[in-house]
Amino acid sequence: MKRRFVLSLAILLASTAILWSQVDRTVVIISWDGGKPSVIRQMVREARLPNIQRLMVEGSYSWTAQTIVPSSTLQSHTSMVTGVTMQKHGVTWNDKFREEEGFVKVPTIFELAKKAGLKTAMVVSKSKLKQFAKPGTLDAEEYVRGDALKVAEVAVKVIEQVKPNLMLVHFSDPDSAGHSYGWGNEKKGIPPSQEFLNAVKRCDKATGEIVNALKRNGRWEKALVIITADHGGHDKTHGSSDLEDVNIPWIAAGGLAAKKGELQGQIKTMDTAATALAALGIKAPNDWDGKPVWEALGERGEVSMNGKQLPIIAEWKGNHSGVTEPKRIVITNAREWEELWKQVHKGKILIPNIPTVDFNKNMVVAAFMGQKPTSGYAIQITEVTHSNGEIVVKLKETKPPKGAIVLQVLTQPFHIVVVSKVEGKVRFVE
Ligand SMILES: [Zn+2]
Repeated sequence: MKRRFVLSLAILLASTAILWSQVDRTVVIISWDGGKPSVIRQMVREARLPNIQRLMVEGSYSWTAQTIVPSSTLQSHTSMVTGVTMQKHGVTWNDKFREEEGFVKVPTIFELAKKAGLKTAMVVSKSKLKQFAKPGTLDAEEYVRGDALKVAEVAVKVIEQVKPNLMLVHFSDPDSAGHSYGWGNEKKGIPPSQEFLNAVKRCDKATGEIVNALKRNGRWEKALVIITADHGGHDKTHGSSDLEDVNIPWIAAGGLAAKKGELQGQIKTMDTAATALAALGIKAPNDWDGKPVWEALGERGEVSMNGKQLPIIAEWKGNHSGVTEPKRIVITNAREWEELWKQVHKGKILIPNIPTVDFNKNMVVAAFMGQKPTSGYAIQITEVTHSNGEIVVKLKETKPPKGAIVLQVLTQPFHIVVVSKVEGKVRFVE
C-alpha cells in the first residue's frame, strides 16, 4: 500500500515537472454562436465593436476561417474542441445532449489538457454542448441561462476562482437573434436585423469583460484568447455549405499571440483545438485534422512540442557515463561520435563496438544528468521536434521519491538518441 503511494507520488512529481512552464498559461476560446464574420467586420469598420477592434490591433485575425458542414452548433463546436471532422468525432446531431449516445468518443482538448496536469473549464449557454463535457475532464462546467453579459459574469468568476489554463466560453446571443430576426442575406442584398447587430455588440462587451478579468488577475501576459464562432447564417437559418453559413471569425490576442494583422492561411475550426493545445505546450494527436495556426502565435506562444516530431531512430540509456557534470550535446560527425562513445564507456573492460551512424542523414543528441549520489535518478529525451527552423529537445529528469530504497552508489545517468538530421538551432527544454 505504502509503496503504491510512493510510486504514484513519483509519477505525479514527474508529470508536474514536464509542464512547469505551462501551468501559468491561460487559453480562452470565446465562441459567438452564429457570429457571422462579414457582419462583425463591417461593425468593426464602423467602430461599433471596440473590444474586438483592440484585440485585432494587438493580435491577428481572419474573416474567412471556416467551420465544418453541416454548419450547425453541436457538430461544429465538437470539431472546435476535438480537432477532427464530424466524420471522426461522430457527433452528427444538433437537437440536444443525447445521453444514450454517450459522450463524444474522441479525445477533447479539455481531456488532453487535464491529462497534462492543467485546469480546464467551460462556461456555455446551451446545454447540448454537454456532449463533449466528458466526466472528469473539466474543473468547472457551467450552463448559463442568460445573455452574453450573464455568461461573461460567470466566466469571470470561474477565471478568478478556478484559474483554468484552458477554457471555452460560449455566447448564444447572435444565433438567437439570427433565428428570430435574421442574419441578413448578402446575395439578396438584405442587411442583418437590428436585433442581430445588438447581439453582436453584446458579445463584444462580454468579451471585453473576460479580457479585463484576465488583465486584472495578472493572466493576460501569458494568455491566448481566440474569438471565433460555430457558424454564420443567412435569412433566419444556417447549416448549409454556403459561405454565409460556413465562414467564421477567428481573432487571436493576448501575451502569447503574435501582432500579425490579417492572417494569411486558411483556418479551419479544427485548428482552434490544435492552436489552443500548442499554446499550452501539449502535442496534438497525430491523426488530428486541425493544425496549430503558428502565424497567430508569438515567440512566447510557440511551445515547439507541436512541431514536426523527429522519430528516435536508435537510443542508448544508462546510469554510468563517467560524465560528472550536466551536459547537452548535439553531434553531427563521426569523429565526435567516436569520442562520445569512448567517454561513455570509459573505464569499462570491454567497450562495445561503436554503432554506425550515417551522419549524412542523421544526428546524435545526448543528455547527461551529472553525478548523483545514489541510484534511482534518470534523464530522458522524451521528444525531439522541428518547427520554424528550430529543433527542440524535450528532457525529463527524474529522481528517486522520498523514502524509496536506493543503492548507495555514484551514478551519472545519460540518454543518447539518433534522429534525422535537420537544419536549425537546437534548444533543450527541461
Ligand atoms: Zn442556430
